[in-house]
Amino acid sequence: MNCIFCKIINGEIPSYKLYEDDEILAFLDINPVSPGHTLIIPKEHTLDVTTIDNETLIKIFDKARDIAPLLIDKMGATGFTLTQNNGSVQEVKHFHLHVMPKYNKKIKISIEDVYKKITN
Ligand code: 5GP
Ligand code: ZN
Repeated sequence: MNCIFCKIINGEIPSYKLYEDDEILAFLDINPVSPGHTLIIPKEHTLDVTTIDNETLIKIFDKARDIAPLLIDKMGATGFTLTQNNGSVQEVKHFHLHVMPKYNKKIKISIEDVYKKITN
């Protein structure tokens, strides 16, 4: 299947992985809205919120509750927004939850340095 996120899951496309288990994967968004912008996806390809199974959906939201405080702690974010797009507003057709940290001031930092900050 020609799906970018499936390629990230199977390692064909590299990514900055923050968390991985048998069912879900969390990694940094390549084009972040703010530093630390993270995507959480199911490993089994599924389109969107109408097709994902309840158990995996809960697992993904539960992981967002771990990652968001990590972004506050390690990145100095002051809050966060969760977004999940469907249909015409969804660019990548593999379910994903955006975790987008907010900051009081604009910070300029590379994705490599964000990854180091979060994982160290
Ligand atoms: P959507 O509009 O579908 O909710 O968002 C898709 C997100 O996937 C965008 O924020 C975009 O930057 C991100 N994205 C697209 N391709 C890649 C990629 O190859 N690697 C990573 N890490 N993120 C990607
Ligand atoms: Zn996929």
